[in-house]
Amino acid sequence: MDEEIDHSEIGLKAGLEIHQQLDTRTKLFCKCPTVLREKKESTFSLKRYLRASKSEMGEVDRAAREEAKYSRTFMYKGYDSTCLVENDEEPPRELNREAIDISLEVALLLNMNPVDEIHTMRKIVIDGSNTCGFQRTALVATDGLLSTEEGTVRVDSLCLEEDAAQKIELKKEGSAVGYSLDRLGIPLVEIGTAPDIKTPEQAVNVAEQLGMILRSTGRVKRGLGTIRQDINVSIAAGARVEIKGVQNLRLIGDIVRNEITRQLRLIALKEELNKRGARVEHHRIEDLSGIFEATSSRVIQKAGGNVFGVCLYGFSGVLGTEIQPERRFGSELADFTAMYGAGLMHTDELPAYGITEDEVEQLKRTFGATDNDCVVIVAADRAHAEKALKAVLRRAEDAMREIPKETRRALPSGSSAYMRPLPGAARMYPETDVPPVDIDEQILHSIKTNLPETFAHRKARYKDGFDLNDELADKIARNINFALFEHIMDSYKNVPVTLVVRTLTDTLTELIHDGIDVEDTLEDRHFIDIFKNLSANAFGKEAVPDVLKFLANKPEIEVAKAIEEIGLSVNMDEVKQLIEDIVNAKKEFIQEKGAHAVGPLMGVVMNELRGKVDGEIINRMVADKVKEVLEEG
Ligand SMILES: [Zn+2]
Repeated sequence: MDEEIDHSEIGLKAGLEIHQQLDTRTKLFCKCPTVLREKKESTFSLKRYLRASKSEMGEVDRAAREEAKYSRTFMYKGYDSTCLVENDEEPPRELNREAIDISLEVALLLNMNPVDEIHTMRKIVIDGSNTCGFQRTALVATDGLLSTEEGTVRVDSLCLEEDAAQKIELKKEGSAVGYSLDRLGIPLVEIGTAPDIKTPEQAVNVAEQLGMILRSTGRVKRGLGTIRQDINVSIAAGARVEIKGVQNLRLIGDIVRNEITRQLRLIALKEELNKRGARVEHHRIEDLSGIFEATSSRVIQKAGGNVFGVCLYGFSGVLGTEIQPERRFGSELADFTAMYGAGLMHTDELPAYGITEDEVEQLKRTFGATDNDCVVIVAADRAHAEKALKAVLRRAEDAMREIPKETRRALPSGSSAYMRPLPGAARMYPETDVPPVDIDEQILHSIKTNLPETFAHRKARYKDGFDLNDELADKIARNINFALFEHIMDSYKNVPVTLVVRTLTDTLTELIHDGIDVEDTLEDRHFIDIFKNLSANAFGKEAVPDVLKFLANKPEIEVAKAIEEIGLSVNMDEVKQLIEDIVNAKKEFIQEKGAHAVGPLMGVVMNELRGKVDGEIINRMVADKVKEVLEEG
């Protein structure tokens, strides 16, 4: 799947929607704490049945209608840390001011325009992820900009939202879908970009920048599941598809690339099907149970012998076509049957699963199918099987016509699976229980004057100010010790900047890796003291890890004393004498090699002085001495 793709030629357009949990003390619409609980700590459960209801605009949303086809019961686990608001037994309270402040801060960091008044809206969700059947969301700011090497990306909107209840596995609840109420109501900011992203690499860059800006506030939650990304992707000849729930930033590039592959493969498949004159009989679903009365297939026996099927004429071999890593066209069809609790089998892969050649022949005969055709069967009761197979027929018809616009679910492999149709426009209506909130100039002013520096800004400042390369500037700008770094560079200007960065990042990481407890023992003053001594050439930079190790064990000791105890302190007269002795003993070698003798001699001298004197100083002294010998002739 790694054919070279020219992204501008295929007309790639992508946009990101990032959801970040805020680290507020209380939830968005109640005073409950924003903590996640062990599911076994649950103290009660609620049961609800949700149907597609019309919005106040009078329309039933397409996605809502689709969801309503699977009649579902929802079971919610509650805790002593949740209240009647989460249960939808009490109306929501006023919007959380702390959450508003954080979202305004993020908006200003993104150069967005805050709204004058924040209005809470209801967005219909009917998958049960909210007990009241909608998610509350409030637009906070619009019209921001992010710059990337590949051009500017508009940031359309920043909303403050309540997080949804978390889906959980239920034991012995039949067909009910389970949710946990602890996450419901935790404030989220949702940042949506325009579809201005033109390459997978740019998508990764935008996600990284947004992530850094959010973290620079210091008021967002960290860890798995606290940040979730949705990506919408389209190519000119394809369709707009939204892929939801990417938790790992590193997957974003793959998600975009794999969606491009999927759309290109589906376009090729469409051409192939049209060439073959493929077709489906729209309403023809056959009851095939009779064929399997005496079957030895376990799958079919388990379904009570109920088998239904359809024929996809001209589709032979198509279901096995790979369209994404680990995904075939058959997987796209199976996404639909899975929603009705049924697996899918087809004649391209049969006989298998205990189904015999004779049974396959009878299947084909029922539909008058030839070797060019593909019979798809599901083993399930009539109601579920008919719904599942209707969806299969619809998806097969789409394959001959167009790529469906839809919402998909990100898979850990970087591929995706069908989730639901793209939601229509009828999803939002006003939440009358929550009063609007004025954003006055005073609040904005105080947030503006206290904005944190973004990582991106700090990195750029380090690149310019300290002449650091991209890698090192990035490393120290993101590092917890960045303020210490600036202090050291201000105080000891003759210390090499790369040495300071490496010491505060890589060297510390290596020491931690070696099991040395530097985190709990070493303080800023230790590092400042080390660089003060380095600045005065009191010891060689090669010894920095040894000094840190020593201080980690004896944090009460001063660096000058530590150098002495490690045996690093030297008398420069003795160093001079040592170099003179070594050089004088090698005069012949120097005459023979000329200036090239410096390298090998350095090795000999450093063996004696490593860590005690800076390598560069020794190098200079050895070179001078060698020059003397050569001039003497
Ligand atoms: Zn509550």
